[in-house]
Amino acid sequence: MLGLMQDRPLLISQLIEFAAENHGDTEIVSRRVEGDIHRYTYRDARHRAKQMAEALVGLGIKPGDRIGTLAWNGYRHFELYYAISGMGAVCHTINPRLFPEQIVYIVNHAEDRILFVDANLLPLVEKLAPQFKGVRHIVAMTDRAHLPAGLAIPNLLVYEELISGKPGTYEWPEFDEKTASSLCYTSGTTGNPKGVLYSHRSTLLHAYGSALPDTLNVSARSVVLPVVPMFHVNAWGLPYSGCLAGAKLVFPGAALDGASLYELYENEKVTHTAGVPTIWLGLLNHMQSKGLKLSTLKYAVVGGSAAPPAMIETFQRAFGVEVLHAWGMTEMSPLGTVNTLKHKQLALPADQQLQVRLKQGRAVFGVDMKIVDDKGKDLPRDGKAFGDLLVRGPWIVSRYFRDEGGDPLREGGWFPTGDVATIDPDGFMQITDRSKDVIKSGGEWISSIDLENAAMAHPAIAEAAVIGVAHPKWDERPLMIVVPRPGANLTREAVLDFLKDKIAKWWMPDDVQFVEAIPHTATGKILKTKLRDDFKAYKLPTA
Ligand code: AMP
Repeated sequence: MLGLMQDRPLLISQLIEFAAENHGDTEIVSRRVEGDIHRYTYRDARHRAKQMAEALVGLGIKPGDRIGTLAWNGYRHFELYYAISGMGAVCHTINPRLFPEQIVYIVNHAEDRILFVDANLLPLVEKLAPQFKGVRHIVAMTDRAHLPAGLAIPNLLVYEELISGKPGTYEWPEFDEKTASSLCYTSGTTGNPKGVLYSHRSTLLHAYGSALPDTLNVSARSVVLPVVPMFHVNAWGLPYSGCLAGAKLVFPGAALDGASLYELYENEKVTHTAGVPTIWLGLLNHMQSKGLKLSTLKYAVVGGSAAPPAMIETFQRAFGVEVLHAWGMTEMSPLGTVNTLKHKQLALPADQQLQVRLKQGRAVFGVDMKIVDDKGKDLPRDGKAFGDLLVRGPWIVSRYFRDEGGDPLREGGWFPTGDVATIDPDGFMQITDRSKDVIKSGGEWISSIDLENAAMAHPAIAEAAVIGVAHPKWDERPLMIVVPRPGANLTREAVLDFLKDKIAKWWMPDDVQFVEAIPHTATGKILKTKLRDDFKAYKLPTA
């Protein structure tokens, strides 16, 4: 027997409608690429998103067409999220920090019809435009007055001119909730990027799940500043969960340095922010060197890479900000787990509590999670056994766009994350490594992340990365690569000595090498493939 409730599809357009109807005067504030601060409301955003949908129809865009964006976090990008998906087309967000040849590859692979580009990224697009095969229009996301001079992009359109004079009375169409809504390519460290094609249904369910009190806790009382870019897994869904909750949104544009962010946090009374650890290093350094305090910020979501313990503690102790350590992937929309403590952990002494906070957190309802050994056999949730982490759920990928890479799922519909993890009896998952980065020493696994975390607590270490280096007896042994803080006088012996009581003896790196900078991926993760390449000729002193 079927239930007798209304069968309304879950559609992204409902989010902006809901926000405009119920939180019409709630603000969206943006630091614009043009340099100034722009403010308007959800009601204004809906009007302009509808004008843009009308403009897209005018340009011949049909449901299912892909439309690319190369843009920072700002109100026009937000309008495009709703205009494009709302009319049934696919919003393809592109990371401008990718290598130019990767940008060309994914624009052509996605068959983008139109590209929307922030003014300061137009010079990049000008160089690549001749290689874009199916792009009919390039739109500068600004007005005529702010268009960079001397651009040689044929038939360049201007955002404000496109929507100017449009009625803004567009009626969002209703269609199947499984319709594709947006597309994001994974920043794969090997091979070509693969496209993850989200649906309206997956996006709405993810928005519900991610706003919950034990996940990102977004409400109508929140002021949310996503530092995580809108081109990286839809800014972790915050432009959607923000609408769902009716939160004030603050977009930082291209200025992600500590000083610019701090100014927005204070001026806009931000309560929630989200980003990768490298961003927080910049912010914390800025605030500490200037002796600044935060007056309204309550939560910093840290994800994309492991939150180092020193970062969790500094946020909490020096600034009164609770770190919400989160884990996810492009393939998971992205949210899988968030670390919020239960009564039991809150009762623990501070040092034990920190050990729990280091974990990537508990599964969000909707995400099934398990760990398995090499043979695919389930491992216990005892917080000790570690194995390949598998997930499944309604906002997790089933196949990649255009079937790139074939069927990624294992038996039972489980998606292998490529992460190695433990799960404890309270459900807290902890990533011990990427399966490619785990160091295999004498048949046992050493977690590169644990070693990096231990080292990052040293006051003279700005950043540390650990890779496995070939060893004749042990197969692989850890090499630690360290960026000292400016002016610090750091030695190999001092680093190893510092690690002594923090890690198992046999995990001790065989050597420490000092470098000026560690390479990062376009999404801020340590680029271990490049590091391994840089140290290809290196021989361990123990080898
Ligand atoms: P991406 O799809 O680019 O967001 O990358 C997803 C990968 O980032 C995951 O599979 C993890 O390896 C890594 N990752 C994300 N969040 C965390 C975290 N909190 N701690 C450790 N690794 C993380």
